[in-house]
Amino acid sequence: MTVPLHYILHISRVKKMAIAIIGGGISGLTLAWGLQRAGIDYDLFEASPRPGGTICSEQHGGYLLEVGPNSLQLSDELAVLFQELGLTDKVEDAAAVSQNRYVLRAGAYQPLPGTPPGLLTSKFFSLKGRYNIVRELFRKPEPVNELETLGGFFTRRFGSEVVEYALNPFISGIYAGDPAQLLLHKTFPQLAALEQRHGSVLRGLMKTKSSAGRRRIVSLAGGLQTLPNTLAAKLRRAHFGQAATRLHRHDDDGRWELDTTAGPAPRLYQHVVLALPTHAAAKLLTEQFPAEAAALAAVYYPPMTAVYTAYQRTDVGHPLNGFGALHPKAEQPYAAGSIWTSSLFSGRAPAGQVLFTTFVGGTQYEPQALEPADQQQAAVHAELSRFYGLKADAAPVWQHRHFWPRAIPQFDARILPAHAAADHLQTLGLHATANWRAGVGVPDCVRHARQLAATLAAAR
Ligand SMILES: Cc1cc2nc3c(=O)[nH]c(=O)nc-3n(C[C@H](O)[C@H](O)[C@H](O)COP(=O)(O)OP(=O)(O)OC[C@H]3O[C@@H](n4cnc5c(N)ncnc54)[C@H](O)[C@@H]3O)c2cc1C
Repeated sequence: MTVPLHYILHISRVKKMAIAIIGGGISGLTLAWGLQRAGIDYDLFEASPRPGGTICSEQHGGYLLEVGPNSLQLSDELAVLFQELGLTDKVEDAAAVSQNRYVLRAGAYQPLPGTPPGLLTSKFFSLKGRYNIVRELFRKPEPVNELETLGGFFTRRFGSEVVEYALNPFISGIYAGDPAQLLLHKTFPQLAALEQRHGSVLRGLMKTKSSAGRRRIVSLAGGLQTLPNTLAAKLRRAHFGQAATRLHRHDDDGRWELDTTAGPAPRLYQHVVLALPTHAAAKLLTEQFPAEAAALAAVYYPPMTAVYTAYQRTDVGHPLNGFGALHPKAEQPYAAGSIWTSSLFSGRAPAGQVLFTTFVGGTQYEPQALEPADQQQAAVHAELSRFYGLKADAAPVWQHRHFWPRAIPQFDARILPAHAAADHLQTLGLHATANWRAGVGVPDCVRHARQLAATLAAAR
């Protein structure tokens, strides 16, 4: 009996154990690096010719822009990754002033206290607000509620002033989100744990913070793009400019078949990892897993625009001695806030100039995110003129913007079915590592991807 050639080819492909990674943002790249170091066969497919996904640095003349993340908190996992990649010498610490954070209150920027005792000694909060903060030490913990929002939790523990003037701007700065919608257990589960363990969040924070210390805020020489570029250069089986177009699980042996824009993937895979935004992952799942695809597609990513504005230093009255300033919604601002980019790292703007990165959009400022570029840039300049003591006739030396139609996944109630779908797919060898699974910060993505690499290596 002659065996058909296609059958022999099929068997030989099946026998080769390999993992496909779809997506070459920081999550997919870190996973691939972990698998390569563990000696596991993989193929990574990234739609763009450029590695890094959301991490993207661009040089425009004398301006070095971060289109996505501006800086990273140096977690232990990130420090180890830098070491493995030989990047430790390229790490640049943010200037010491980066510890200062400002929040708009009554039309002017005021320093936000960074420690629990500072909350009480500074005049940032009213007397009533400070009284409510002290009362938190004596409030009783409430039973765990997985559906409690961040806004609900903070209102119940600290009162509405803390929510309006500290939580609200902070959440719009990190998540581009709205605390009234984001779930405590999916964003800051450690706060819920502090309430349960210590009775008071503040008491718990004071105990844990005193030993932990503050994390370094860092970038890399050449901008954050240096990280994905270095990873990509070291990966032996990364295929850039190849988007996954179809994913199919074989009923007989549970292996996965993958088509890409460059044709069928080179082999069948025992495991596939989605290192993709939920909407991109959903497209690959619709054919075979429509319910899971619908759950992933429902996750909300608000639009956001980053507007870059440079001025002559002598035109700006404000000392810009901090990381930046955030805007509470209660102040009815145009933008969510600005990072004082040229105060943080050197080489971001030509000598004698200052550079602001202003965030327009997110869940609470969606209409502004969608405005035309010229309108948006004019509105940002008008707001900067108002709050930074600009000279009356000062105009931007340079402006630029980048629009993110879907910026950051929201950990609101819609994330729950998506996580349940991902849990189910994992039992079939289809995993997910990406910010909607790991947490939105780059250090979260790195931690999650490294853990998944270790899990897959152990299961080999
Ligand atoms: C404006 C902005 C500012 C931010 N600031 C910070 C910050 O200061 N610090 C911080 O820590 N974090 C910040 N973040 C968050 C952080 O950058 C992201 O959460 C993180 O980079 C996401 O990485 P990822 O690999 O999970 O996903 P992504 O970066 O989205 O990567 C997914 C990749 O999948 C690819 N892809 C999509 N479809 C396909 C397909 N069919 N086939 C193959 N490939 C595909 C995409 O091209 C992309 O490269 C910011 C995010 C934004 C948007």
